[in-house]
Amino acid sequence: MLSKMATSCISDLTFNFLYLITIYILHMSIAANNPTLTSWVNVPANSDFPIQNLPFGIFKTHQLTPRVGVRIGDHVLDLKTLYVLGYMENLSFELSDFDNEFLNPLMKKGKKATRELRNRISKLLRADQDDLQKNEHHVAQVLISADQIEMCMPVQIGDYTDFYSSKEHATNVGVMFRDPANALLPNWLWIPVGYHGRASSVILSGQSIYRPKGQIKPADDQDPIFSASRQLDFELEMAFITYDGKPLGDSISTGEAEDYIFGMCLFNDWSARDIQKWEYVPLGPFLAKNFASSISAWIVTLDALEPFKVETPSQNPEVLSYLKFEGLKSYDINLEVVIEPENSEETTISRSNFKYMYWNMAQQLAHHTVNGCNVRCGDLMGSGTISGPTEDSYGSMLELAWKGTKPLKMNDGSERKFILDNDTVIMRGYSSKDGVRVGFGEVAAKILPAK
Ligand code: CA
Repeated sequence: MLSKMATSCISDLTFNFLYLITIYILHMSIAANNPTLTSWVNVPANSDFPIQNLPFGIFKTHQLTPRVGVRIGDHVLDLKTLYVLGYMENLSFELSDFDNEFLNPLMKKGKKATRELRNRISKLLRADQDDLQKNEHHVAQVLISADQIEMCMPVQIGDYTDFYSSKEHATNVGVMFRDPANALLPNWLWIPVGYHGRASSVILSGQSIYRPKGQIKPADDQDPIFSASRQLDFELEMAFITYDGKPLGDSISTGEAEDYIFGMCLFNDWSARDIQKWEYVPLGPFLAKNFASSISAWIVTLDALEPFKVETPSQNPEVLSYLKFEGLKSYDINLEVVIEPENSEETTISRSNFKYMYWNMAQQLAHHTVNGCNVRCGDLMGSGTISGPTEDSYGSMLELAWKGTKPLKMNDGSERKFILDNDTVIMRGYSSKDGVRVGFGEVAAKILPAK
């Protein structure tokens, strides 16, 4: 009996030791994030892509097939060629992980492997390291000017889930469409509300969108009609992309969540408000939301965002135990939305910040899996519209122009209640601290007239 207990104690100790080592390896300071690092590759001032960022994407050129690239300043590093030239030795990756039209095989290798990969790339690009720098012949092969490449869809998205996690946004929508006195539905402060979206219509920044058609109800006392949407809107969101999760039946805790998130991108979850208003009862969004959702091309790793962690808004009432968390779980990411009418200049219509989100990503992932639902490598999770506390920080036209009652003035003198044909909507985002700016570039899409 005693010896059985002793064995069990020892195996518990061994388990705890191994667990602590794993946690240590995963969370030790990330070498690539050192704010004092500089690169031998020229990085223009105010670039979103200094050596502290190193986001991953898929690119091609006239000569090169689609492959994994990492952005640095105004250049892209070709990881396939870097591998072939022998710079990726003693890492967990094979040629096919880089010689691929999606990041999924690379993400399949998990957090520890991708962290080591980013650290290796950082080392190769550091000003004080000449392994790659000294080989001009190699540099000419692996470093390509960003204006000579075409970006491709970075991830083969399996499932797409969209949350509704901004208290300001949910309150504004509740005030407009329900009851100002009870703007938030009773479940909102208890549950990170979400719905299952559609992955097939998630598209890359730059791809134009046809104005959607559907059933709309012009007035409460009229029958519905079939029409092109008259209330086409954007939703300012960010999204995170997952590594492989746990098997069906298991849950990911808030403490574990970051180990299952590869990175983030900008996300415009296009919405047709008039279609939405008529269709959404009782099962929620359907055709008002699934005609297009645009993502930015570069996936910024959660590792690169680590230095920009901030507190989340305080949560009241106290959340249920599986939604409790420790430490900083949000990120200070400045966001802006601009409208660029055809043949005209941009007008900035909103400035918001990711840190306003009431429910954080760890809580979203914990909630998503608490019933045993499995997430897989390459799943996309939208934050929900990110509205700030002030009228100029709202994340949708619905709120900015308050249901069309306060049209927005464009710099060219025109007005907008919603998005017009041939308007381009552009979202940008970046974090900044200690003289380091880590950005996402932009997500842009033009609205074409209905087909
Ligand atoms: Ca949305």
